[in-house]
Amino acid sequence: VLRSLINNKAPLQLGRMCYSSSSVPTTKLFIDGKFVESSSSEWLDIHNPATNQVVGRVPKATQDEMLAAVDSCSRAYRSWSETSILSRQQIFLRYQQLIKENIKELAKAITLEQGKTLADAEGDVFRGLQVVEHACSVTSLMLGETLPSITKDMDTYTYRLPLGVCAGIAPFNFPAMIPLWMFPIGMVCGNTYLMKPSERVPGCTMLLAKLLQDAGAPDGTLNIIHGQHAAVNFICDHPAIKAISFVGSNQAGEYIYERGSRNGKRVQSNMGAKNHGVVMPDANKENTINQLVGAAFGAAGQRCMALSTAIFVGESRDWLPELVERSRSLRVNAGDQPGADVGPLISPEAKARVEYLIQKGVDEGAKLLLDGRNVRVKGYENGNFVGPTILSNVTADMTCYKEEIFGPVLIILEADTLDEAISLINRNPYGNGTAIFTTNGATARKYTHEVDVGQIGVNVPIPVPLPMFSFTGSRGSFRGDTNFYGKQGIQFFTQIKTVTSQWKAEDATVTSPAVTMPT
Ligand code: NAD
Repeated sequence: VLRSLINNKAPLQLGRMCYSSSSVPTTKLFIDGKFVESSSSEWLDIHNPATNQVVGRVPKATQDEMLAAVDSCSRAYRSWSETSILSRQQIFLRYQQLIKENIKELAKAITLEQGKTLADAEGDVFRGLQVVEHACSVTSLMLGETLPSITKDMDTYTYRLPLGVCAGIAPFNFPAMIPLWMFPIGMVCGNTYLMKPSERVPGCTMLLAKLLQDAGAPDGTLNIIHGQHAAVNFICDHPAIKAISFVGSNQAGEYIYERGSRNGKRVQSNMGAKNHGVVMPDANKENTINQLVGAAFGAAGQRCMALSTAIFVGESRDWLPELVERSRSLRVNAGDQPGADVGPLISPEAKARVEYLIQKGVDEGAKLLLDGRNVRVKGYENGNFVGPTILSNVTADMTCYKEEIFGPVLIILEADTLDEAISLINRNPYGNGTAIFTTNGATARKYTHEVDVGQIGVNVPIPVPLPMFSFTGSRGSFRGDTNFYGKQGIQFFTQIKTVTSQWKAEDATVTSPAVTMPT
């Protein structure tokens, strides 16, 4: 089905498992194993960010549709949670294979709606695929613990068990990777899952759902609803939903954390960032400049781990002219065009916001070393393009430093010492990621020890941990107790049942009741 949809038959319908009578394809809901048309009267347009043409429509699911989706999850949970762990593992083994076989088609669906380059979109799928591969280790990850002979004839052991129905709310910037952080781990642990993709990029999630169905996931184990605030509130409030995974902005994430927690749910909330790269004068210059350029402008800066802020320590500030030249050489183009390095931003509003923050930086005293505003992309004049932009002489009180820009803008601060750089970073409210570029092990060690950020790269610009570890953003970038994927992801989706049992070998008769606390 996937291939027939994609093989040139309906290029604008990529990512939607559906056709409608109107010329614009509609995104279906996925309820109880069926891709169904919503009966909603409220629909949102989906745009290709390179052209701003409407490429699809997505419904705001009705209350009845959302209830049907949760009911389906609840019914499926009864049998899914009792399905053997080996059977669940087999489904995800097949799933990872299907994702591999369809990686190019998934990437095309991402580029169409999200705008990133095809190569980057494949990376988006690949990083999610790695999480699915790791989910296949569930048989080891779900092991409980035992302690025999805690007293005579008595043993204690634990089971790691699923929670029930879990739900995920995803952002627009990683249409494959982030949903794949969510439902595969939740489901392989025995939970059923209600997914709400970003209303701006739902197509890839629909393809992923179809592949999961093809891999053998029973009806109702994954349901998908669409929408905005009403769908989010529904997820936060429905009593059958036991846990919520959120990734997105602080505005939404803090709200969801509070509303979901108040309703007694587990919530993990990965949010915004301002990631600093510290450039020491002893760093490998060539390598560092390339890493900075790639990590600041890749995906048009729309990554939560984008290295959007550089602190040049001491004489490393002399490298700025080369950094500017290398950045200028990046090719801005539609994501599906050969050789494109920097694609468009998600929306005209995002573009206007990024341009506003650039101008605000200039007005507040920053120096515009490279201006990507007014970039012209031939054939894509209506796209949301901003070219690589560099602002230097930035200080911590400027708006462009305080706000997450989420665009292809690198802001540059200077520091005389490493201590000064660390102190600046630790005063910033976010704690998602950071990197240091140095050839000195002691400098690197001091940095990793003292910097208060959850994910640190040493000569690695975007240190997103592989799935056997967890995504450990901290401070203002995270709310919750247990992080996404890895061991912590398994913990998030499971609860522990502890059994203490006594089997007496000889005469088991208890002669009199004991009223004191058993020790
Ligand atoms: P967003 O918060 O606008 O949207 C995320 C989800 O929340 C969407 O599904 C959306 O429908 C919903 N939503 C949006 N506004 C809401 C509101 N006011 N109330 C309730 N729900 C709401 O985020 P986005 O623009 O899609 O994504 C970009 C943001 O995500 C950036 O801040 C980025 O740093 C962050 N992000 C963080 C991580 C991470 O792991 N820390 C990863 C990717 C993206």
